[in-house]
Amino acid sequence: MAQKTYDVVIIGSGPAGYTSALYASRANLETAVFQGFESGGQLMLTSDVENFPGYKDGVEGPEMMDELEAQAARFGAEMLPDNVERVDFSERPFKLWAEGEDEPTLAKAVVIATGAKAKWLGLEKEQHLMGKGVSGCATCDGFFFREKKVAVVGGGDTAMEEALFLTKFASEVFLIHRRDEFRASKIMVERARNNPKMTFVLDSEVEDILGENSVEGVRVKNVKTGEETEIAVEGFFTAIGHEPATAIFKGQVEMDGAGYILQKEHTMTSVPGVFAAGDVSDTRYRQAVTAAGDGCRSAIDAERWLEEQGEAENAIDPGSWTAEKDEKAGVWAG
Ligand SMILES: Cc1cc2nc3c(=O)[nH]c(=O)nc-3n(C[C@H](O)[C@H](O)[C@H](O)COP(=O)(O)OP(=O)(O)OC[C@H]3O[C@@H](n4cnc5c(N)ncnc54)[C@H](O)[C@@H]3O)c2cc1C
Repeated sequence: MAQKTYDVVIIGSGPAGYTSALYASRANLETAVFQGFESGGQLMLTSDVENFPGYKDGVEGPEMMDELEAQAARFGAEMLPDNVERVDFSERPFKLWAEGEDEPTLAKAVVIATGAKAKWLGLEKEQHLMGKGVSGCATCDGFFFREKKVAVVGGGDTAMEEALFLTKFASEVFLIHRRDEFRASKIMVERARNNPKMTFVLDSEVEDILGENSVEGVRVKNVKTGEETEIAVEGFFTAIGHEPATAIFKGQVEMDGAGYILQKEHTMTSVPGVFAAGDVSDTRYRQAVTAAGDGCRSAIDAERWLEEQGEAENAIDPGSWTAEKDEKAGVWAG
């Protein structure tokens, strides 16, 4: 028997991957999702998500991801729990190898939604107190630190932006940087220096995060004098960059210098038929809702591209509400 070829295979099960799966499967495309070892993506690491539309009282990250998965599965998207370890996008159908498998999975179109990870300092407490005062995202978590003291680690533009954003909530923001010069642009450094809520802790490295069940402070060491100091804070934000999960796509699709996948035409990558969605190609917003939005775009783009190739006979354009779609609505009700 000939091996099955999916219309769309999505790699990644964060908000981008599941939304792409929801739109693709609801458009009548045969859809599979490689969920990866970190099924559910980054939001599995957080407790309260208060800025995803539709949850007026907020929602626990894992609960929200369960619902996104169920919503995609409801329309027939097949969930494959594996990690993809190798891909070949040089000819169609595209080939994807799940870890440990010899036989590839075949796809007419692929959506890459493998996300990006905040870089961490590597301290044990970072993982232990994640979501309990430790965060990699000021936009996501700043709101929880009203009138509290927080620390931000980093010296680039992102660190300045995150620190300045946090001054809108926190009573004091300590910006900890291991040198006394910044990679950040002059204007951002000036803005930070002029903000009365900012305190610069320079030439200093974080030795440890204090607290057992929540962040109570940080211990920093001055790299020039060796002196150690403890600073009482309730929030600890790293802002030392992100790393996109794109190693397996090197040489297959075009990326920028930092390894983010380039969306060349809408969400299509340099390879026609391969699309990218979410944090894996987003150096700017990195939010669940923007990732989900991108997932929607990628499925619409994939469906329209398949249609152009004459490979989506039964599909319904997920981006238009037409009489044709209403007619086919019975497909989804089942
Ligand atoms: C602690 C924390 C709190 C956050 N809080 C908020 C918040 O309150 N609000 C908000 O909007 N955003 C928040 N964010 C940011 C948000 O989580 C991300 O912007 C969002 O998850 C990005 O979605 P994504 O689908 O692009 O990727 P991700 O969520 O990163 O998902 C990537 C997926 O790809 C899979 N994957 C990776 N490699 C492979 C592979 N080789 N094979 C198969 N699968 C693979 C992983 O298993 C994972 O499922 C938070 C992030 C963190 C870390």
